[in-house]
Amino acid sequence: MAELLKGAPVATAINERVAADIEMLKGKGVEPCLAIVQLGNNDADTAYANGAKKKCAAIGVAVKEVSLSAEISEAELIEKINELNNDTAVHGVLLLRPLPAHISDDNVRAALRPEKDIDGITDISLAGVFTGNNVGFAPCTAQACIEILDHYGITLKGKTVCVIGRSLVVGRPVAMMALRKNATVTICHSNTVDIEAQARQAEIVIAAIGKAGAVDGRYMSEGQIFIDVGINVNDAGKLCGDVDAAAADAAAAAYTPVPGGVGSVTTSVLISHVVEAAKRAAK
Ligand code: NAP
Repeated sequence: MAELLKGAPVATAINERVAADIEMLKGKGVEPCLAIVQLGNNDADTAYANGAKKKCAAIGVAVKEVSLSAEISEAELIEKINELNNDTAVHGVLLLRPLPAHISDDNVRAALRPEKDIDGITDISLAGVFTGNNVGFAPCTAQACIEILDHYGITLKGKTVCVIGRSLVVGRPVAMMALRKNATVTICHSNTVDIEAQARQAEIVIAAIGKAGAVDGRYMSEGQIFIDVGINVNDAGKLCGDVDAAAADAAAAAYTPVPGGVGSVTTSVLISHVVEAAKRAAK
């Protein structure tokens, strides 16, 4: 049986790390604050926002909820983002996306100050993932994958890593972060020929495609490590990842469960970014 790389101990370790910083900031009269911007009342957005609010309350980070109509114009939304950019009491802005079709995602992302871009959505934050500058922040899910590997003492240096998926939210940034940790990285996507063979030759596989259990035994060889980013609902109506957990359990050395893996670390990373943004602003 493979080792389960559970997210909860990783999240706890991150929370403990930020707790000391929060105390230090409070001593200076600074209360870290996350603004959550939600358009409309999509269930998935509300669930994510509620999870973040609960964790912020438990850790001691203030939350400013900005609930807007899904019919808001692009100009009005950008005006709202500018207000948050200029509000010195707000240190990080979480914009729940996708945005309604009548609003340009590019224009809104460009309006957010990278210093407050705690989920790594601006081009400047993403450039920072490539260059290593610290103006913005890495996308939280991508960083959560790296935090899990670090927490369980799985070094990336010299390892072969296969990232399946190339979105700007997960695949591409996590590939770059693994490269910066001196892994040799292959990025696969829907046009890659024989992904199974690419995955089998890697020591670590990071799956971020959004297809229930698609990464099955054909993608596996003995002793690999699987980081499963996927959040899907399978035919039986159960929450599951992109990795076939039963196959991973038989073949892999270790893998992250779904639920209880990457997803449970993401909000802690988000909060750590808010606290880091508050620290940078206080300097
Ligand atoms: P996305 O934007 O839809 O990107 C999916 C990527 O997977 C694309 O690059 C696509 O290739 C590739 N792909 C799709 N099917 C494939 C296949 N059969 N073989 C190889 N590559 C394939 O998705 P995302 O936002 O990155 O999210 C991926 C998964 O992670 C989803 O299940 C999502 O719910 C989950 N997620 C979890 C968290 C978390 O906190 N745990 C956060 C964000 C996302 P092309 O580029 O060629 O189309």
